[in-house]
Amino acid sequence: MATIEVLCPKCSSAVYRHGKAASGEARYRCRGCHHCFQLNYRYEANRPGVAERIIDMAMNGSGVRDTGRVLKISPTTVVRHLKNSTQRR
Ligand SMILES: [Zn+2]
Repeated sequence: MATIEVLCPKCSSAVYRHGKAASGEARYRCRGCHHCFQLNYRYEANRPGVAERIIDMAMNGSGVRDTGRVLKISPTTVVRHLKNSTQRR
């Protein structure tokens, strides 16, 4: 049986199994930075890199609805990401 080596997407440390999501997907947690993640997500907006793309599109003049349509996520999710991203900086 082939096994896949799972590493933390943030710091590349080893991970351990951390239960299952409501969708049934296995969740993993990093031993180093305690970041929790899944290998597959049911909703596009939770995939790695989508948060950065939302900000990039807003910076290049895309509206909330444009961004939602292109990334296949809800306009409400786009607004939530933009609001939260300004609070952190
Ligand atoms: Zn980590």
